[in-house]
Amino acid sequence: MRGEVIALDLETTGLDVKTADIIEIGAAKCRGDEILERYQTLIKPGHAIPEIVTFITGIKEEDVAESPSIESVLPELAAFIGDRPIVGHRIEFDVQMLNRYEVARPNPRVDTFELAGFLLPNLGRYNLSSLSQELGIELTNAHRALDDAIASWQLYRQLWARLLALPLPLLAELDQQSRGRAWDAEAAISDALIEALAGAEAPGDRLDFPQLTAPLIPPPTPLTVHPNPQASDLGALAEKLPGLEGYPGASGNWPAQVLGLAGAAFQRDKHLLLETPPGPAGLWATALAAADYALTHQEPVVLAIATPQSYELVSKTLLPALQKQWEGRLHFSEALDRGQYLCPQRLAGLRERGPASVAEAAVLAKILVALQQGATGNKRELNFRNNQEQGVWATLSAEQDRCEASHCEEEIKQACPLHKAYQQAQAAHIILSRQSLLMHEGTGSSLLPQHQYLLIAEAHLLENQLTDGGRYTLERGRVLAKFASFADLEKGRLHDLLGPLSEILTPGHYAKLATFAEAIAETSLAMLPLLRKWFSELEACLSHGEGGQGDAPLRKLRVTAPVRGGAPWQNAARYWGKLREYTEDLQAAFLKIAGALGQLRQRYEDLEDLYPQLNKVAGAIAQDLQDFRDRADQFMQAKQKHTIYWIETNQEGDELRLLSAPLQIGDWIEEKLWEGKSGVVMASPYLRIQGDFQFMGDRLNAARGVDQRAVEVPENDRPNVMIYLPTDMPEPNQRTEYQAALQAGLVDLAGFHWGKILSLFTSNQQAKEITMQLSEPLSQAGVDLIESGSGGTRPQMLERFQAAERALLLGTEFYWEGVDIPGVSLLTLARLPFEALSDPVGEARSDQYGQDSFKEYTLNLAVLRFRQNYDRLNPGPGRPGVLVMFDRRMTSKPYGKAFLDSLPDGVVERGPLAKMKFVVRDWFAKA
Ligand code: SF4
Repeated sequence: MRGEVIALDLETTGLDVKTADIIEIGAAKCRGDEILERYQTLIKPGHAIPEIVTFITGIKEEDVAESPSIESVLPELAAFIGDRPIVGHRIEFDVQMLNRYEVARPNPRVDTFELAGFLLPNLGRYNLSSLSQELGIELTNAHRALDDAIASWQLYRQLWARLLALPLPLLAELDQQSRGRAWDAEAAISDALIEALAGAEAPGDRLDFPQLTAPLIPPPTPLTVHPNPQASDLGALAEKLPGLEGYPGASGNWPAQVLGLAGAAFQRDKHLLLETPPGPAGLWATALAAADYALTHQEPVVLAIATPQSYELVSKTLLPALQKQWEGRLHFSEALDRGQYLCPQRLAGLRERGPASVAEAAVLAKILVALQQGATGNKRELNFRNNQEQGVWATLSAEQDRCEASHCEEEIKQACPLHKAYQQAQAAHIILSRQSLLMHEGTGSSLLPQHQYLLIAEAHLLENQLTDGGRYTLERGRVLAKFASFADLEKGRLHDLLGPLSEILTPGHYAKLATFAEAIAETSLAMLPLLRKWFSELEACLSHGEGGQGDAPLRKLRVTAPVRGGAPWQNAARYWGKLREYTEDLQAAFLKIAGALGQLRQRYEDLEDLYPQLNKVAGAIAQDLQDFRDRADQFMQAKQKHTIYWIETNQEGDELRLLSAPLQIGDWIEEKLWEGKSGVVMASPYLRIQGDFQFMGDRLNAARGVDQRAVEVPENDRPNVMIYLPTDMPEPNQRTEYQAALQAGLVDLAGFHWGKILSLFTSNQQAKEITMQLSEPLSQAGVDLIESGSGGTRPQMLERFQAAERALLLGTEFYWEGVDIPGVSLLTLARLPFEALSDPVGEARSDQYGQDSFKEYTLNLAVLRFRQNYDRLNPGPGRPGVLVMFDRRMTSKPYGKAFLDSLPDGVVERGPLAKMKFVVRDWFAKA
């Protein structure tokens, strides 16, 4: 920004503007590259400083005991700030805090969080520390007011330079789209435009993005040359691949076995359950098997993967390495969720009508800047910072309003990212897909081309993934936004539909349509309070039911007969009755508009070109309303058999979703996969329990005509593991005693272990509590404690873990699912990994087993998860490793044996907690 600005940051006792107290103010008066003056003071708050704030900022009670009160510093602070624009990171909060004291009310605000959100469209995180690190800005005392204020000013300087570097037409468009939106990027954009325009004549026409308007250059045709891969060469290649270092065994004989078994199954048109060795090497062998068969037989093979981490490894490392090895003869493509692709038509619509909210302005700016930087229209090229932004993206993606080929003109379709992806998939040997997308196969929304051969990696997760794929969600925010958009004649869907007609129709005809549109808007407006009440009553069910307790990020309640019989549900049902009628009326109204357009088309020649598009919009809205009504009906009346219904909300209660998912996935697998395909190989390291495929075979309906084979890791390639079971741990339900013993155990281990410790928990809260208690003592002992919820991306945490000489990494098992960390020689598990009781899908599946559900379902599932946890122990072949299981049920309950028996043979030691560190130390020392 031109002229002087104030960079500002406050440290406070909390994040609620109404109740928090200021404990530190930092401000800098800046012009251009220069800091003219600094201001910093600690403030004595009216309340005690919470421990967590001291933990984050380092500011203690005694530091502020003699500091001035906020009231006494206000005059000098107000004079320092004056009427200058205020720059800061998430500055709205700081300014609102000052506004409480009538300071800084009229000053323009510039938020570096908002600017970075679109100028750096694909960053993993947008907090000040991450941005500083990314842009090389020094921030030594993060969370201290003056340091943060100066860092945000330096960040601002860099973002300002990026703004000025944008093409003039784009800057002008951003200015136009953000004007009057109360968006804290607006002032900087408008100032940048003024500066950029100096000396220029005019901004010029809006940018056109060729990647969204030009068709795909014809996709490659699959070649007929077989590269004749040698398993041994490929094994050697595997050892050099990033992500596979430290995973020996890939060059041994077993990848060839995986290759041979999968290839033979496909060749004989057979199905196979194939247990592979764990880790990236197992995944490598699986991907290799798919690629080898596809090339050898010139048959497309779909390779379906469950976790994002494994998907990333296969798509970014393993398949590109094979492509290179085979000199580009292997073609692979990715079939993603439709919601991953930007719809150029919807983007054009938003650019035309302009954003209706700050979130829309921010997302539009982010997309336009990303496209200008060469993005292709894939969601992965962008990073959305919250659910609101995700919601806006959803309205711009191909997920919306059935965009099947028949609805879209050929010309536009050919150029849209969704269809380009489909075309590429048609010509590929390997089509890489997430497992959940298999559920859409055969429907109009599938992006998978015809295929007869399917290789499913991480098959132990298939049931959950397909359940997710078949899930339907009604989200409160999105539903309300949809109906609010029908009520908005200025910017909403009705404007999209009728706006272009104002210049074509006679005033009389247009007035009739406008009156009709007003009636629709009024109905929609009347629906909004009813929709809110409907959702509120459903939310109230969560408090009345048993679900929704605990510290999980989401509170969930399965909708069962008792829930449906409760007062909140009955109230919700009454509201839905009224809403249902309104929805029917709206749907009929949009169909009438479609009919009226058809008649008007006969009279107005000028309407000929526009008609197909308008008719499509009206039809899509009507269909969307029908879908909404059907789904809400099904939810309220449990209309579909074998379906699980549940309500979920986040802990803050600001997100509410109504969900349904299929219960009987096994039947679907049997019909669509085992019976529908020529060859299906389901591969995973976790298909057997104590050498038996029965449990997973049953879950996957793989009993008849499906071969079962296992490829083992050779003895020499396994680590030398000891399992230590403390026998005097309190039971996990003795919360306080158990937590104290767990902490003591971790301190003991971290105190002597010169290496990496991975500690897995079943609860985020527990990991956080441990962090709070142990970070100080462990840091004094030279151990870097890293907690997965404490900020930083997963790769950043892994990098830190791997770089540290001594580190303790805490996290929940799910956070680390699909992530393999080489070099972990000590693994601790806090509790046996039983499924959370509050999970509606797990509960419904378990109910199907009746009285035997624990033995037949819950226990088996936990044993498989335990094996997955165990495989995180990865010190290297023949090297010593230790697993400590802090859950005494492993020794005190009869079922504990099932867990132990599921592991490879090894040494098991039982003893008191106090003895643990000596036994573990000896184990490492002996080795
Ligand atoms: S096919 Fe779908 S995503 Fe592509 S332009 Fe048409 S409506 Fe948009």
